[in-house]
Amino acid sequence: MSKKLRRYSLRRIKDNYTYTVEQIADLFGINVNTVRRWISEEGLKRLPMTRPHLVHSSDLKRFLERKQKSRKKPCAEHELFCCKCQMPRSPKLDTGSLILNPNNTVLFGARCSVCDTKIHKAVKGEKWDENHP
Ligand SMILES: [Zn+2]
Repeated sequence: MSKKLRRYSLRRIKDNYTYTVEQIADLFGINVNTVRRWISEEGLKRLPMTRPHLVHSSDLKRFLERKQKSRKKPCAEHELFCCKCQMPRSPKLDTGSLILNPNNTVLFGARCSVCDTKIHKAVKGEKWDENHP
């Protein structure tokens, strides 16, 4: 049986707010000891000289972003990350669509070749030209 990876919804984190360890645990439904370990072992910054420990929302966000990025499976150029499969998948042929955004990114959408879920990724315009001549 594969262990299900936990994803933390960063949208739940309020802007400009200080959290206690207990509040963070509540927020994500995790054990307070997990949060304490983030602080003591995994480098989650806490505000200095606070007891009980307080963590600023921006530090919490940054920490979790980094944590989630580090276990992200990298997609090859032709692959898109499928949320349902939880891994990079090739898009189904003939399902691709491109949307050019005004901010010079290209949104590529398609369907997962395995589970048919909609998948998409945004690519910077310049980068897109390099990779997809
Ligand atoms: Zn899929």
